[in-house]
Amino acid sequence: MIKEALNTVSDLWSLMVGLRVTKDYFRAPQVTVRYPWKAVSNIATYKGHLELVGGKTGKPKCISCGMCALACPSNCLTVVKRKPPKPTPEEEQALAEAKAKGEKPKDKTPKDPEKFIYDFTLCSLCGTCMENCPVGALDFTGSAYLAGYSREDFHFDLVQLLKNQAGLEGMDASAAPETGQSEA
Ligand code: SF4
Ligand code: SF4
Repeated sequence: MIKEALNTVSDLWSLMVGLRVTKDYFRAPQVTVRYPWKAVSNIATYKGHLELVGGKTGKPKCISCGMCALACPSNCLTVVKRKPPKPTPEEEQALAEAKAKGEKPKDKTPKDPEKFIYDFTLCSLCGTCMENCPVGALDFTGSAYLAGYSREDFHFDLVQLLKNQAGLEGMDASAAPETGQSEA
């Protein structure tokens, strides 16, 4: 009997505490919005998935050094370097002559990556990759409304995304002229 009475008092106390907390939140200013009817006003502060920084040509600033991938604690990044282009007969001859003279031929392979694979499902948005990039080639997007149906929808080739942004779908960005402009 005493135990039941104590339980009832305890339940009532719990109820009172819950009601007090509810009352406090009920009177507090609203900090959420009813999306999609209303958008938040501070969307510019949102930290979305990574993107490569590049010029309007769609050519990334990235030099394929791989420092970001090495530094990433979650193994989100895979940088695929470009293969050297097939030399023309003239270039082959020049290479052979340089080799005969004991000179080291200059590597003319474009430095920007062939692919830059990013698994957003593993990314903690810690920014370590950006801190370790020597040329400032990575940035966070403000993409707050990204959605998908499967995990694969969040696996990106950032080189391709950059081309798409620049409207250069299918174009070989390494062939595009460098303008020196960049967009964040
Ligand atoms: S933000 Fe952090 S977790 Fe995400 S790719 Fe960069 S280093 Fe990896
Ligand atoms: S994004 Fe920066 S750190 Fe990563 S491979 Fe490119 S240049 Fe190197």
